[in-house]
Amino acid sequence: MVDVDFTLAERRNVVIIGSGPAGLTAALYAARANLEPLILQGPEPGGQLITTTDVENFPGFPDGIMGPEMMIKFEEQAVRFGADLRYGIVTEVDLSESPFKLVIDEEKPILAKTIIVSTGASAKYLGIENEKRLLGHGVSSCATCDGAFFKDQEVAVVGGGDTAMEEALFLTRFASKVYVIHRRSELRASKIMQERAKKEDKIEFIWDSTVEDVLGEKEVESVQLKNTQTGETSTLPVQGLFLAIGHTPNTSVFKDFLDMDDLGYLVTQADSTYSNIDGVFVSGDAQDRVYRQAVTAAGTGCMAAMDAERWLAERGS
Ligand code: NDP
Repeated sequence: MVDVDFTLAERRNVVIIGSGPAGLTAALYAARANLEPLILQGPEPGGQLITTTDVENFPGFPDGIMGPEMMIKFEEQAVRFGADLRYGIVTEVDLSESPFKLVIDEEKPILAKTIIVSTGASAKYLGIENEKRLLGHGVSSCATCDGAFFKDQEVAVVGGGDTAMEEALFLTRFASKVYVIHRRSELRASKIMQERAKKEDKIEFIWDSTVEDVLGEKEVESVQLKNTQTGETSTLPVQGLFLAIGHTPNTSVFKDFLDMDDLGYLVTQADSTYSNIDGVFVSGDAQDRVYRQAVTAAGTGCMAAMDAERWLAERGS
């Protein structure tokens, strides 16, 4: 571990790492159980829903709700019961025994009897050199954040899942044309999202194609495509490129301690949120490569807080 002195470290019953639907639900339950949880917000406070528009599939909101507004409500509810919500990124951990050692922002030590990991997942990029160079200059992974910059311009979205459909539909509010570039000829997105996107006149699908390069000196000017069937390459002039090709779990800081699968998703024991380390519980998208919904994340956040509460009670804490 970095040179951090733990002798006078702040001590907590429960530290929740991450503040999306999983973390904030865990915080609500732990707070209502009088465990005075500390919840660390991480690099994207509120999680992925902060960059979403309408959430229509979270029960209890018959007219839908905007993602950021929903996360503010999650926060308010957890704080109302005493959750200590704080900015901070966990930069190092030692999970060899409870109390577990956490280093926040490379300097602040915290000792936690239990930990709930709810660090979620982050958007993936294609891994092309120019994509990185032009990030923020036409390349984006968040239409909600950057869509308004592309008024009356032509843009492309890469991906064939629900996120790609949602991003493309959102972008039609601003852009004059939205291409959806998909590497196959069949979408992965749910039927309802596919139908909405296919009905929209401004959206045009480019099938069986991958993005080989992003071109432009200072801003995106075009993308180079390759047809996966014929091998043919072509240039598509666009001013914006939105990546919607899935996510990577934010679990690297735990790699020396917690069991994870080949993609980095944390592994839980059957029917629980127990990790391989006694006293460390995991919830939300950091452990879910299948469902990845706000409502399932909230569900596992609730489970993790209840598991942590029982774990502490069994040890007289
Ligand atoms: P998905 O994993 O569902 O889809 C990713 C898409 O990107 C796939 O079409 C995939 O292609 C494509 N892809 C992946 N890697 C590459 C690559 N390197 N190059 C080109 N294309 C690539 O991710 P999403 O983010 O769309 O969705 C995640 C989860 O969140 C899903 O369960 C989804 O239903 C849910 N969601 C729900 C929403 C809603 O209900 N409103 C909104 C957004 C997400 P291929 O199909 O060939 O694998």
